[in-house]
Amino acid sequence: MMELTGLTLAELEQLMRSLDEPAYRARQLRDWLIKGRGLDGMGNLPASLLDKLQPLAIAQPARVLERHESKTDGTQKLLFGLPDGHTVEGVIMRYRHGITFCLSTQVGCAMGCAFCASTLQGKLRDLSAGEMASMCYLANQSTQPEPLSNLVLMGSGEPLDNYDQVLAFLRLITSRDSLHIGARHISLSTCGLPDKMRSLAREGLPITLSVSLHAPNDQVRRSIMPIARAYSMDEVLDACRDYISQTGRRVVFEYALIDSLNDQPAHARELAGRLRGMQCHVNLIPLNDVPERQLRASGKEQAAQFQRILGELHISATIRRQLGDDIFGACGQLRVQRLKTSFVDHSEVKP
Ligand code: SAH
Repeated sequence: MMELTGLTLAELEQLMRSLDEPAYRARQLRDWLIKGRGLDGMGNLPASLLDKLQPLAIAQPARVLERHESKTDGTQKLLFGLPDGHTVEGVIMRYRHGITFCLSTQVGCAMGCAFCASTLQGKLRDLSAGEMASMCYLANQSTQPEPLSNLVLMGSGEPLDNYDQVLAFLRLITSRDSLHIGARHISLSTCGLPDKMRSLAREGLPITLSVSLHAPNDQVRRSIMPIARAYSMDEVLDACRDYISQTGRRVVFEYALIDSLNDQPAHARELAGRLRGMQCHVNLIPLNDVPERQLRASGKEQAAQFQRILGELHISATIRRQLGDDIFGACGQLRVQRLKTSFVDHSEVKP
């Protein structure tokens, strides 16, 4: 089945031609797609056209199965259902500067990071560009009259392990045919695949690259991120320098602070040494606890000390706000358990 949300306006026009329909129908169809409508909700399209499309194409490959809304800060957690029965999550966060949607790029993940819930069952499959666009349209619809202003590819999955579909999605969603979200308002987070990072730097899409570093050296990194056995930190950091020089954009490093493992003053000094002179920012993330693996979040003081040391060594760093005042803040890989415990406390389920 063709996914209509994955098509550009030009491709929709071509489809209309092939169905002997006037080209202007493509625009009407596109307007409905962006509104999150399926074929059964497209009021001004003739039944004859919809009948032709029905056996060929699916309009919205994603649908909202569950919606959990925080009463305190307006954060919404969405569970999307896909045509083959898989489900993925997305999170809508309200900030003063606009609305951010945190999007998944794969069902599950193959990367195997020790602290991450999304990878527990491995990668089940890639998401298509049409599925990713569909989730954005549904999310965008649910925040109206305010539109989504920012996108972060930080949900489940490794976006650069689904490169072609993610790129097709990014080209679409930034275009006038779609939500027209500025590339500068989009962040893509990767565990650090150097070859793909270098390709991305040459796509002419000035998105922000976030790199999940989580360690000041290869030894610590390999103990929590299997991908670090395939690529050294030097290779990852070289690819970051390349990204900076190609795009002129600073790179953001994500660093989840894990008690004792990577949060000591010596770690902070080592990290600062590795990042010296780079146009970058470090995002310190309080770890969402992973009890099965004996990984625990660093304490507040440890985190503050880590940040202070980086600052003294001229590395800009901030601590990401923790759950509570900002439920799910920009971390798309929250554990199911976490959802059950801390989220439902503040939320109501709206089917
Ligand atoms: N695969 C990509 C994008 C998804 S993860 C990546 O690795 O960057 C988005 C961010 O959430 C990553 O920085 C990831 O390392 C982080 N993350 C995953 N599990 C976490 C946890 N339990 N606590 C804090 N951050 C976590």
